[in-house]
Amino acid sequence: MAKRLQKGRITYAKDYDLGKIKQDKAFEKAVKQALDRDELMVYYQPIFSVEKGVYNSAEALVRLHDEELGWISPEDFIPIAERNGMIIEMGEVILDKVCRFIHDFKLAQTTVEYIEVNISPVQLMQQHFSDRVKQIMEKYDVRPNQINIEITETATISMADTVNANIMDLVQYGIKFSLDDYGSGYANIDYINHMPFSIIKLDKYIIWDAFKSTKAGITLKHTIGMLNELELHIVAEGVETAEMRDHLADIGCHFMQGWYYSKAVSDQDFIRLIEMQ
Ligand code: C2E
Ligand code: MG
Ligand code: MG
Ligand code: MG
Repeated sequence: MAKRLQKGRITYAKDYDLGKIKQDKAFEKAVKQALDRDELMVYYQPIFSVEKGVYNSAEALVRLHDEELGWISPEDFIPIAERNGMIIEMGEVILDKVCRFIHDFKLAQTTVEYIEVNISPVQLMQQHFSDRVKQIMEKYDVRPNQINIEITETATISMADTVNANIMDLVQYGIKFSLDDYGSGYANIDYINHMPFSIIKLDKYIIWDAFKSTKAGITLKHTIGMLNELELHIVAEGVETAEMRDHLADIGCHFMQGWYYSKAVSDQDFIRLIEMQ
């Protein structure tokens, strides 16, 4: 360590790491406190069906506000919770809130067919994860077709037996799976063919890139064409303008999610949004 410290560049890296470690500790404390006090919130971002002309689903997104640190991004605290294992409890709390929301707000009577829930690979690696999901859903009389599980490519790349068993069990139960952030990782075609995905969510960066470069525009168009031929539902993330919406619809993407429509909002605001449409 002493040797490394002699090098200016590394000293800088160490200083940075120290800052990062301190920040992570603070975030970790905030997450723990929010769990203890039941202060984690779940917001909902609507997903628009172009064919139906209504919001037909929504993505549940966790929100954390700390009295000292303010709003903390899930991009910052989810990786920490994954490392220290808190994601297990957090994931259950989130799913519980989502199911209670579906039940209490009688979502079945609205245009919203299902809620998409993000599930971490760490959760999928838990034995009996699928049983816990079913228990929580049954507690609130939520039907299997009212929940969709979003996972990223990296979640299952290991192909661990437990991960596969959980996925297969939930698919058999009637839950559909969405592949999240498609295009940001390996965009492995083999993977799409062998995993039971119903929905492919195009990563916001490949959407934005398509409006910046001709090459990216071409690859996006053909990706959408291919996914349509495979009869997969395609959701575009990060739709921020009417121009993006129009072009995406033109090239065959029929579900839109993004700030052009709405940011993620509280459950009360989400219901108002659904009632207003
Ligand atoms: P994700 O699952 O890909 O979620 C989409 C992210 O894009 C959300 O960020 C959403 O607010 C943001 N977004 C949606 N539309 C737009 C847009 O038009 N413009 C821009 N700039 N951003 C947009 P958020 O809520 O900060 O979540 C970040 C990531 O944290 C999520 O990415 C997901 O990987 C993770 N995450 C969030 N909630 C949960 C959760 O409940 N459980 C787990 N395991 N992970 C979660
Ligand atoms: Mg997601
Ligand atoms: Mg995503
Ligand atoms: Mg993401």
